Amino acid sequence: MRAAELRVTMNDTGDSVENLPAVTGETAPASQGRALEILAVLQTTLELDKLIELFSGELQKTLPHDSIGYENPVQDIELDIGARARHSCTYRLVVGEESLGRITLTRARRFSTEDVAAIENLLVSLVYPLRNALAHQRALESALKDALTGLYNRAAMTNALHREIRLARRHKAPLSLLMLDIDRFKHINDSYGHAAGDTALKVLAACVANCIRNTDVLARFGGEEFAVLLNSTERKGALLLAERICAAARALRFSHNGTEIGLTVSLGVATLQDPDDEKTLFERADQALYRAKHNGRDRVECAD
Ligand code: GH3
Ligand code: MG
Ligand code: MG
Repeated sequence: MRAAELRVTMNDTGDSVENLPAVTGETAPASQGRALEILAVLQTTLELDKLIELFSGELQKTLPHDSIGYENPVQDIELDIGARARHSCTYRLVVGEESLGRITLTRARRFSTEDVAAIENLLVSLVYPLRNALAHQRALESALKDALTGLYNRAAMTNALHREIRLARRHKAPLSLLMLDIDRFKHINDSYGHAAGDTALKVLAACVANCIRNTDVLARFGGEEFAVLLNSTERKGALLLAERICAAARALRFSHNGTEIGLTVSLGVATLQDPDDEKTLFERADQALYRAKHNGRDRVECAD
């Protein structure tokens, strides 16, 4: 098997072998049959974690190891299978100009030069299936993202609501939902133009993201409406956060064609109760939001 564009670099951080020079991956003739066998196995999946698991399983047959890790900072992926041991070797996978991330193998015994060469030969079979799995993951993610703000979209929030309600019930943990709507947004569009409205959405999205924990799920729910799902958060905590977001939005300023623009938002808060399902939790937060609008905007209202 040839992989003319593949570059693999490795270093063993557990012992003295470090920063070996980059090598061009090309499977040695003796390993070609094995590499093709592995390739056939790997081509059965597009799921990234399954792929790494299959590769680890195949590699175990020739090269016992305690753990395998895969990191891809660009796509925010970190996978670990097995418990890390003292000696490690890390391979950086590059195809042409495209970085496919890093694979790290560990075990108690040091990796010999022959082991390193053998792993390199077999890694060649991982490269193309890995590239396909990464593309698959990107496609899945873009279906759940809002292009303008980079936040999750309504479909993603619907999935998250379903998942988090199930988890909250199982762990008897509180769960709260905030619905947020920009006040008189039509006025921003009408006064400064649609592009200014778009900038307002982006700036506000970043502002709300800054206010929340990274375990909270933030989505652009509709035009100028956002939702935040707060796990392990009861009514009091959710109210506090909603007030903080309301104040942060009020303090926001952004400039459009030399004009400084501000905005305010209204928020509705609901906390999961026994009779709730996804629909009623959402409806209660939305009714509270409606009340916040009705009661003068730039404020927070809480469902009973
Ligand atoms: P309220 O305080 O009651 O929420 O008033 P509002 O003007 O915000 O509400 P309304 O529902 O009347 O108007 C929402 C506006 O949001 C109308 C629509 O043109 C605008 N909008 C929706 N999506 C986008 C978008 O992606 N970009 C921009 N620029 N405007 C958008
Ligand atoms: Mg609205
Ligand atoms: Mg609005």
